Amino acid sequence: MATERTLSIIKPDAVAKNAIGDIIARFEKAGLNVVAAKMMHLSEEKAGGFYAEHKERPFFKDLVGFMTSGPVVVQVLEGEGAIAKNRELMGATNPKEAAPGTIRADFAETIDANAVHGSDSPESAEREISYFFGNDEICPR
Ligand code: GDP
Ligand code: MG
Repeated sequence: MATERTLSIIKPDAVAKNAIGDIIARFEKAGLNVVAAKMMHLSEEKAGGFYAEHKERPFFKDLVGFMTSGPVVVQVLEGEGAIAKNRELMGATNPKEAAPGTIRADFAETIDANAVHGSDSPESAEREISYFFGNDEICPR
């Protein structure tokens, strides 16, 4: 499998719970390297643009409200099959359906505050990484 990069966001609920370190430890233990990271408090415009694909969904307003409710930690993760590996570590979108031992099962209770974001395809990873990071902010190792 090829080395890939994916975008991860530790969402406001997980930051508020002081779970940043626990979540990043899971990525590192699974062989994903953090090659870029920053903490940000997203504006409505930045969060809405990030989730533009969901603009017509009934939950869009709540989603943007939640993502702007507190700081997030945005990272680029790099490793073998990083996109699928991160999605596996995250678990299902709805924490109630997430497999035991996944980040969402362990750190989240509801679908609207579900601890983490992860890119779902190579195309979205490319768009999402460049949405948050310039090339000079990524540190390959
Ligand atoms: P993800 O890729 O697993 O994060 O899921 P999606 O891309 O489908 O949705 C983006 C985010 O919108 C999810 O992580 C949830 O926080 C939120 N979301 C998705 N579906 C629903 C829903 O039915 N209700 C609410 N309130 N939020 C949702
Ligand atoms: Mg998604």
